[in-house]
Amino acid sequence: MFEIVFLGTSASAPSVDRGLSAALLMYRDQRFLIDCGEGTQRQLLRSGVGFRKLDKILLTHGHLDHILGLGGIASTFSRWESITTMSIYGGQWALQRVEDLMKVVLRGGEVDMALRFVPIRPGRLWTGERMTVTAFPVSHRGPGCFGYAFEVEGHSPFLAEEAERLGVPRGPERKRLIQGESITLEDGTVVHPDQVLGEEVRGVKLVHVGDAGRTDNLVDVCRDADALVIEATYSSRDADMASRFGHLTAAQAATLASRAGVKNLFLVHLSRRYSEREIGREARAIFPNTIVPRDLDHYRVSRNTVEKVETDAYGQASVS
Ligand SMILES: [Zn+2]
Ligand SMILES: [Zn+2]
Repeated sequence: MFEIVFLGTSASAPSVDRGLSAALLMYRDQRFLIDCGEGTQRQLLRSGVGFRKLDKILLTHGHLDHILGLGGIASTFSRWESITTMSIYGGQWALQRVEDLMKVVLRGGEVDMALRFVPIRPGRLWTGERMTVTAFPVSHRGPGCFGYAFEVEGHSPFLAEEAERLGVPRGPERKRLIQGESITLEDGTVVHPDQVLGEEVRGVKLVHVGDAGRTDNLVDVCRDADALVIEATYSSRDADMASRFGHLTAAQAATLASRAGVKNLFLVHLSRRYSEREIGREARAIFPNTIVPRDLDHYRVSRNTVEKVETDAYGQASVS
């Protein structure tokens, strides 16, 4: 299960209700900040999740509405937070721009925090406990734009009744079978893992695409995702503007979700021109499971389903 907190959902410039692009993805004790528009550190505080363990930042691209908040976060972290290394992953051009920004903010390293700039290429980017992050290219304006697929490994359920029938005692023997080892029972019978493990159940998949100008090259990477987060800067009535500026309409994003067999669609990066209702309505006509999250909305993403998490003023979560 993943959790995602939408920290900023506006395109290009903030509105009264929406801040600039940023989202926090959580899996167990791992946290990934995806993009970091201006104002992100305050949104993190308001969301209740705070700065803890926030040492991995993934950039979709180097446009200012996605990176300007890094200056503020680096400044705060370098003074008050216990994070000693912050890793920033992104395309070459985005990282160059962030490095320039950091030169101004950190003024030649008079702080304790180390910054790690990690240029990425399409492919596996990060591997952790039963979870991977894969980067893939996205067509927007300029070079080196990336999207990210977060995937939990599949697992084969342990068939307790079958183990009982075969006489496998409770305890370490069962653990070894789950880990893929064969075991020998006291009477000499050998039990193999495939005798007590069911068919593999796929893990949860969440795909995050930042700004994008086309979708035909995204169908495969989005295939069967439990949740897709993608921009919908424009509505179809401004489709020509969308294509001129390398952005998507809500209808295009919804069509992608439908073609790729995605289970749930989150639309972000909304232009101030439209109400969320207009963007939602356009998308839902094509893909009914569409959500247009507001800033600070927090969701749990499981296999096939998403559920909203209500947080109280102290950031304590409860599922609605
Ligand atoms: Zn943008
Ligand atoms: Zn952009």
